[in-house]
Amino acid sequence: MLTILHQIPEGFTDCAPNDLNNILPGPALIHLDGKLKEPLLVSILLHGNEPTGLLAIQLFLKKMQGKPLPRSLSLFVGNVTAAQQGLRHLNHQPDYNRIWPCDQILSKDEAGDESQSNTPEHAMMKQIVEIMRNKKVFASVDVHNNTGLNPHYGCINKLDTRFFHLATLFSRTVVYFIRPKGVQSMAFADLCPAVTVECGKPDQPFGATHAADFINACLHLSEIPSHPIATHDMDLFHTVATVTVPDHISFSFIDTESDNDGKNESRLTDISFPTTLDHLNFTELTTGTTLGFLNSDKTKIPLLVTDEHGQDATNRYLNLEAGELRTTREFMPSMFTLDHEVIRQDCLGYLMERMDWK
Ligand SMILES: [Zn+2]
Repeated sequence: MLTILHQIPEGFTDCAPNDLNNILPGPALIHLDGKLKEPLLVSILLHGNEPTGLLAIQLFLKKMQGKPLPRSLSLFVGNVTAAQQGLRHLNHQPDYNRIWPCDQILSKDEAGDESQSNTPEHAMMKQIVEIMRNKKVFASVDVHNNTGLNPHYGCINKLDTRFFHLATLFSRTVVYFIRPKGVQSMAFADLCPAVTVECGKPDQPFGATHAADFINACLHLSEIPSHPIATHDMDLFHTVATVTVPDHISFSFIDTESDNDGKNESRLTDISFPTTLDHLNFTELTTGTTLGFLNSDKTKIPLLVTDEHGQDATNRYLNLEAGELRTTREFMPSMFTLDHEVIRQDCLGYLMERMDWK
Protein backbone atom coordinates (compact mmCIF):
# COMPACT_ATOMS: atom_id res chain seq x y z
CA MET A 1 0.00 0.00 0.00
CA LEU A 2 3.07 2.27 0.20
CA THR A 3 4.07 4.39 -2.80
CA ILE A 4 7.80 5.12 -3.02
CA LEU A 5 8.93 8.20 -4.95
CA HIS A 6 12.23 9.94 -5.61
CA GLN A 7 10.93 13.42 -6.25
CA ILE A 8 8.22 15.71 -4.97
CA PRO A 9 5.11 15.12 -7.09
CA GLU A 10 3.73 17.95 -9.24
CA GLY A 11 1.40 20.24 -7.28
CA PHE A 12 2.45 18.93 -3.86
CA THR A 13 3.88 22.18 -2.50
CA ASP A 14 0.60 24.07 -2.98
CA CYS A 15 -1.83 21.28 -2.22
CA ALA A 16 -4.37 21.53 0.61
CA PRO A 17 -4.46 18.50 2.95
CA ASN A 18 -7.93 17.51 1.74
CA ASP A 19 -6.76 17.50 -1.91
CA LEU A 20 -3.60 15.42 -1.41
CA ASN A 21 -5.46 12.29 -2.52
CA ASN A 22 -5.53 13.78 -6.05
CA ILE A 23 -1.72 13.78 -6.05
CA LEU A 24 -0.89 10.68 -4.02
CA PRO A 25 -2.92 7.46 -4.17
CA GLY A 26 -2.27 6.81 -0.49
CA PRO A 27 0.63 6.78 1.99
CA ALA A 28 3.93 7.70 0.31
CA LEU A 29 7.61 7.67 1.18
CA ILE A 30 9.49 10.30 -0.84
CA HIS A 31 13.30 10.15 -0.91
CA LEU A 32 15.16 13.36 -1.84
CA ASP A 33 18.95 13.37 -2.17
CA GLY A 34 21.08 15.88 -0.30
CA LYS A 35 24.77 16.63 0.23
CA LEU A 36 25.04 14.46 3.34
CA LYS A 37 23.77 10.99 2.50
CA GLU A 38 22.28 9.70 5.75
CA PRO A 39 18.68 10.93 5.56
CA LEU A 40 16.54 12.84 7.99
CA LEU A 41 13.14 11.15 8.18
CA VAL A 42 10.18 13.51 8.51
CA SER A 43 6.71 12.05 8.85
CA ILE A 44 3.58 14.13 8.43
CA LEU A 45 -0.16 13.52 8.50
CA LEU A 46 0.01 10.32 10.52
CA HIS A 47 -3.18 11.89 11.82
CA GLY A 48 -5.28 13.15 8.93
CA ASN A 49 -6.67 16.11 10.87
CA GLU A 50 -3.23 17.50 11.79
CA PRO A 51 -2.11 19.54 8.76
CA THR A 52 0.81 21.44 10.29
CA GLY A 53 3.40 18.88 9.12
CA LEU A 54 2.28 19.25 5.51
CA LEU A 55 2.24 23.05 5.74
CA ALA A 56 5.72 23.00 7.30
CA ILE A 57 7.19 20.79 4.56
CA GLN A 58 5.55 22.97 1.90
CA LEU A 59 7.11 26.09 3.45
CA PHE A 60 10.48 24.39 3.65
CA LEU A 61 10.41 23.07 0.07
CA LYS A 62 9.40 26.47 -1.30
CA LYS A 63 12.27 28.06 0.58
CA MET A 64 14.75 25.49 -0.78
CA GLN A 65 13.48 25.55 -4.38
CA GLY A 66 16.32 25.11 -6.79
CA LYS A 67 18.92 24.69 -4.08
CA PRO A 68 20.42 21.31 -3.16
CA LEU A 69 19.40 19.96 0.25
CA PRO A 70 22.16 20.02 2.89
CA ARG A 71 21.20 16.45 3.83
CA SER A 72 19.02 13.79 2.25
CA LEU A 73 15.39 13.90 3.30
CA SER A 74 12.93 11.02 3.42
CA LEU A 75 9.40 12.31 3.76
CA PHE A 76 6.61 9.98 4.86
CA VAL A 77 3.16 11.32 4.01
CA GLY A 78 0.82 9.25 6.15
CA ASN A 79 -2.96 9.06 6.17
CA VAL A 80 -3.88 10.77 2.89
CA THR A 81 -7.43 9.35 2.81
CA ALA A 82 -8.23 10.51 6.34
CA ALA A 83 -6.73 13.94 5.50
CA GLN A 84 -9.21 14.22 2.64
CA GLN A 85 -12.01 14.10 5.20
CA GLY A 86 -10.20 16.02 7.92
CA LEU A 87 -10.26 13.04 10.29
CA ARG A 88 -7.60 11.54 12.55
CA HIS A 89 -8.24 8.19 10.84
CA LEU A 90 -11.16 6.61 9.05
CA ASN A 91 -13.35 4.19 10.98
CA HIS A 92 -12.04 1.09 9.26
CA GLN A 93 -8.39 2.20 9.63
CA PRO A 94 -6.08 1.82 12.61
CA ASP A 95 -4.57 4.97 14.14
CA TYR A 96 -1.39 5.59 12.06
CA ASN A 97 0.55 6.57 15.17
CA ARG A 98 -0.22 3.46 17.23
CA ILE A 99 0.89 0.72 14.83
CA TRP A 100 4.67 1.12 14.47
CA PRO A 101 6.77 -1.91 15.39
CA CYS A 102 7.77 -1.75 18.99
CA ASP A 103 10.29 -4.01 20.73
CA GLN A 104 9.36 -2.59 24.09
CA ILE A 105 5.91 -4.14 24.33
CA LEU A 106 5.72 -5.28 27.91
CA SER A 107 2.95 -7.82 27.95
CA LYS A 108 0.80 -9.80 25.58
CA ASP A 109 -2.11 -7.81 26.86
CA GLU A 110 -0.60 -4.59 25.61
CA ALA A 111 0.33 -6.07 22.27
CA GLY A 112 -3.39 -6.54 21.66
CA ASP A 113 -4.84 -9.43 19.77
CA GLU A 114 -2.94 -10.70 16.75
CA SER A 115 -5.67 -9.98 14.22
CA GLN A 116 -5.50 -6.30 15.07
CA SER A 117 -1.73 -6.07 14.76
CA ASN A 118 -1.53 -7.75 11.36
CA THR A 119 -3.19 -5.11 9.23
CA PRO A 120 -1.64 -3.89 5.95
CA GLU A 121 -0.91 -0.62 7.79
CA HIS A 122 1.17 -2.44 10.43
CA ALA A 123 3.15 -4.13 7.64
CA MET A 124 3.69 -0.78 5.93
CA MET A 125 5.15 0.84 9.05
CA LYS A 126 7.47 -2.15 9.49
CA GLN A 127 8.54 -1.76 5.85
CA ILE A 128 9.33 1.93 6.38
CA VAL A 129 11.45 1.19 9.45
CA GLU A 130 13.43 -1.42 7.45
CA ILE A 131 13.92 0.95 4.50
CA MET A 132 15.17 3.68 6.82
CA ARG A 133 17.40 1.26 8.72
CA ASN A 134 19.08 0.32 5.42
CA LYS A 135 19.52 3.99 4.57
CA LYS A 136 21.19 4.56 7.98
CA VAL A 137 18.63 7.15 9.03
CA PHE A 138 20.30 10.17 10.69
CA ALA A 139 17.37 11.32 12.84
CA SER A 140 13.60 11.15 12.81
CA VAL A 141 11.01 13.89 13.22
CA ASP A 142 7.28 13.20 13.41
CA VAL A 143 5.10 16.34 13.18
CA HIS A 144 1.75 16.57 15.01
CA ASN A 145 -0.90 18.96 16.23
CA ASN A 146 -3.07 18.62 19.28
CA THR A 147 -6.50 19.95 20.11
CA GLY A 148 -6.16 21.38 23.62
CA LEU A 149 -4.30 24.43 24.80
CA ASN A 150 -0.64 23.30 24.95
CA PRO A 151 2.77 24.91 24.40
CA HIS A 152 4.89 23.64 21.51
CA TYR A 153 6.97 20.74 22.79
CA GLY A 154 8.98 17.72 21.73
CA CYS A 155 8.35 14.15 22.85
CA ILE A 156 11.04 11.53 23.21
CA ASN A 157 10.97 7.87 24.18
CA LYS A 158 14.59 7.46 25.26
CA LEU A 159 16.56 9.32 27.95
CA ASP A 160 19.69 10.00 25.92
CA THR A 161 21.65 13.24 25.47
CA ARG A 162 21.41 13.09 21.66
CA PHE A 163 17.62 12.91 21.95
CA PHE A 164 17.71 15.88 24.35
CA HIS A 165 19.73 17.91 21.83
CA LEU A 166 17.37 17.08 18.97
CA ALA A 167 14.23 17.83 21.00
CA THR A 168 15.50 21.11 22.48
CA LEU A 169 16.31 22.34 18.99
CA PHE A 170 12.50 22.55 18.73
CA SER A 171 11.50 23.57 22.27
CA ARG A 172 12.94 23.69 25.77
CA THR A 173 9.82 21.81 26.89
CA VAL A 174 10.43 18.09 26.42
CA VAL A 175 8.16 15.20 27.37
CA TYR A 176 9.46 11.67 27.87
CA PHE A 177 6.99 8.79 27.60
CA ILE A 178 6.88 5.04 26.98
CA ARG A 179 3.13 4.82 26.58
CA PRO A 180 1.14 4.81 24.30
CA LYS A 181 3.03 2.12 22.42
CA GLY A 182 3.32 1.89 18.67
CA VAL A 183 4.18 5.52 18.05
CA GLN A 184 6.58 6.48 15.26
CA SER A 185 9.21 8.08 17.50
CA MET A 186 9.41 4.95 19.65
CA ALA A 187 10.01 2.71 16.64
CA PHE A 188 12.84 4.96 15.43
CA ALA A 189 14.38 5.47 18.88
CA ASP A 190 16.27 2.21 18.37
CA LEU A 191 17.81 3.48 15.12
CA CYS A 192 18.53 7.17 15.64
CA PRO A 193 17.60 10.20 17.75
CA ALA A 194 13.86 10.54 17.27
CA VAL A 195 11.36 13.18 18.33
CA THR A 196 7.64 13.84 17.97
CA VAL A 197 7.01 17.57 17.72
CA GLU A 198 3.68 18.88 18.97
CA CYS A 199 2.98 22.14 17.15
CA GLY A 200 -0.16 23.40 18.91
CA LYS A 201 -3.59 23.57 17.35
CA PRO A 202 -3.97 22.87 13.60
CA ASP A 203 -5.16 26.37 12.70
CA GLN A 204 -2.22 28.31 14.16
CA PRO A 205 0.16 29.41 11.36
CA PHE A 206 3.04 29.76 13.82
CA GLY A 207 3.01 25.97 14.20
CA ALA A 208 3.94 25.51 10.55
CA THR A 209 6.72 28.13 10.49
CA HIS A 210 8.14 26.74 13.74
CA ALA A 211 8.14 23.17 12.38
CA ALA A 212 9.60 24.34 9.03
CA ASP A 213 12.46 26.12 10.84
CA PHE A 214 13.06 23.01 12.92
CA ILE A 215 13.19 20.70 9.88
CA ASN A 216 15.56 23.16 8.21
CA ALA A 217 17.79 23.20 11.31
CA CYS A 218 17.83 19.37 11.50
CA LEU A 219 18.86 19.10 7.84
CA HIS A 220 21.75 21.50 8.49
CA LEU A 221 23.16 19.49 11.42
CA SER A 222 26.33 17.64 10.50
CA GLU A 223 25.97 15.57 13.64
CA ILE A 224 23.84 15.46 16.77
CA PRO A 225 26.00 16.28 19.80
CA SER A 226 26.37 13.71 22.54
CA HIS A 227 27.81 16.02 25.22
CA PRO A 228 25.52 16.72 28.20
CA ILE A 229 22.87 19.41 27.87
CA ALA A 230 22.88 22.39 30.27
CA THR A 231 20.27 22.17 33.04
CA HIS A 232 18.72 25.52 32.17
CA ASP A 233 18.23 24.52 28.51
CA MET A 234 15.53 21.92 29.08
CA ASP A 235 12.35 21.39 31.10
CA LEU A 236 11.85 17.64 31.06
CA PHE A 237 8.56 16.02 32.01
CA HIS A 238 7.69 12.36 32.27
CA THR A 239 4.27 11.13 31.18
CA VAL A 240 3.26 8.81 33.99
CA ALA A 241 -0.36 8.03 33.08
CA THR A 242 -3.08 8.27 30.44
CA VAL A 243 -6.63 9.36 31.29
CA THR A 244 -9.48 7.87 29.27
CA VAL A 245 -13.27 8.09 29.43
CA PRO A 246 -14.69 4.53 29.22
CA ASP A 247 -17.09 4.04 26.29
CA HIS A 248 -20.16 3.58 28.52
CA ILE A 249 -19.58 6.87 30.36
CA SER A 250 -21.23 9.97 28.87
CA PHE A 251 -19.58 13.36 29.30
CA SER A 252 -20.12 17.03 28.58
CA PHE A 253 -18.44 20.37 29.16
CA ILE A 254 -19.92 23.15 31.24
CA ASP A 255 -19.04 26.77 31.69
CA THR A 256 -18.50 26.76 35.44
CA GLU A 257 -18.60 30.56 35.59
CA SER A 258 -22.18 30.75 34.41
CA ASP A 259 -23.62 27.37 35.34
CA ASN A 260 -23.30 26.74 39.04
CA ASP A 261 -26.91 25.76 39.54
CA GLY A 262 -26.51 22.36 37.89
CA LYS A 263 -29.73 22.69 35.90
CA ASN A 264 -27.97 22.86 32.54
CA GLU A 265 -28.87 20.05 30.14
CA SER A 266 -25.25 18.98 29.96
CA ARG A 267 -25.61 17.84 33.54
CA LEU A 268 -27.63 14.91 32.20
CA THR A 269 -24.37 13.21 31.29
CA ASP A 270 -22.46 11.03 33.78
CA ILE A 271 -19.71 13.60 34.19
CA SER A 272 -19.22 17.25 33.25
CA PHE A 273 -15.81 18.79 32.76
CA PRO A 274 -15.19 22.53 32.96
CA THR A 275 -14.74 24.20 29.56
CA THR A 276 -11.44 25.47 30.92
CA LEU A 277 -10.07 21.93 31.38
CA ASP A 278 -7.37 22.41 28.74
CA HIS A 279 -6.13 25.55 30.49
CA LEU A 280 -4.66 23.17 33.07
CA ASN A 281 -2.22 21.72 30.53
CA PHE A 282 1.42 22.21 31.53
CA THR A 283 0.48 23.79 34.85
CA GLU A 284 1.47 22.07 38.10
CA LEU A 285 -1.79 21.13 39.86
CA THR A 286 -1.99 21.00 43.62
CA THR A 287 -3.72 18.16 45.46
CA GLY A 288 -7.50 18.66 45.56
CA THR A 289 -7.86 20.39 42.18
CA THR A 290 -11.34 19.84 40.71
CA LEU A 291 -11.31 18.18 37.27
CA GLY A 292 -15.01 17.36 36.86
CA PHE A 293 -18.50 17.21 38.34
CA LEU A 294 -20.42 13.98 38.76
CA ASN A 295 -24.05 14.02 37.73
CA SER A 296 -25.25 10.43 38.13
CA ASP A 297 -23.42 7.80 40.20
CA LYS A 298 -21.38 9.77 42.74
CA THR A 299 -19.73 6.71 44.28
CA LYS A 300 -17.49 5.57 41.44
CA ILE A 301 -14.75 7.44 39.59
CA PRO A 302 -16.05 7.47 36.01
CA LEU A 303 -12.60 7.81 34.37
CA LEU A 304 -9.79 5.34 33.87
CA VAL A 305 -6.20 6.31 34.61
CA THR A 306 -3.65 3.85 33.24
CA ASP A 307 -0.01 4.06 34.29
CA GLU A 308 2.91 3.65 31.91
CA HIS A 309 3.00 -0.10 32.54
CA GLY A 310 -0.61 -0.52 31.53
CA GLN A 311 -1.91 -0.90 35.10
CA ASP A 312 -5.02 0.77 36.49
CA ALA A 313 -3.81 3.71 38.59
CA THR A 314 -7.07 5.65 38.86
CA ASN A 315 -7.10 5.79 42.68
CA ARG A 316 -3.50 6.93 42.79
CA TYR A 317 -4.32 10.19 40.99
CA LEU A 318 -8.05 10.86 41.44
CA ASN A 319 -10.75 10.69 44.08
CA LEU A 320 -14.33 11.82 44.65
CA GLU A 321 -15.27 14.51 47.10
CA ALA A 322 -18.61 16.34 47.40
CA GLY A 323 -19.69 15.07 43.99
CA GLU A 324 -16.53 16.37 42.36
CA LEU A 325 -13.66 14.57 40.71
CA ARG A 326 -10.45 15.83 42.33
CA THR A 327 -6.73 15.20 42.19
CA THR A 328 -5.06 13.28 45.04
CA ARG A 329 -1.46 14.28 44.35
CA GLU A 330 0.58 16.87 42.50
CA PHE A 331 0.97 16.37 38.77
CA MET A 332 0.86 18.28 35.53
CA PRO A 333 -1.63 17.41 32.77
CA SER A 334 -0.86 17.59 29.06
CA MET A 335 -3.09 17.35 26.01
CA PHE A 336 -6.31 17.64 28.02
CA THR A 337 -8.76 18.31 25.22
CA LEU A 338 -12.38 19.39 24.77
CA ASP A 339 -12.67 17.56 21.45
CA HIS A 340 -15.27 14.79 21.76
CA GLU A 341 -13.90 12.80 18.84
CA VAL A 342 -10.32 12.85 20.17
CA ILE A 343 -11.56 11.85 23.63
CA ARG A 344 -13.51 8.92 22.18
CA GLN A 345 -10.86 7.85 19.64
CA ASP A 346 -7.81 8.41 21.82
CA CYS A 347 -7.89 9.83 25.35
CA LEU A 348 -8.86 12.79 27.53
CA GLY A 349 -5.21 13.61 28.19
CA TYR A 350 -2.03 12.63 30.00
CA LEU A 351 -0.55 13.13 33.46
CA MET A 352 3.08 14.13 33.83
CA GLU A 353 5.66 14.66 36.53
CA ARG A 354 8.73 16.89 36.32
CA MET A 355 11.85 14.81 35.78
CA ASP A 356 15.44 15.20 36.93
CA TRP A 357 17.68 13.84 34.24
CA LYS A 358 21.12 14.44 35.73
ZN1 LIG B 1 -1.25 13.48 16.22
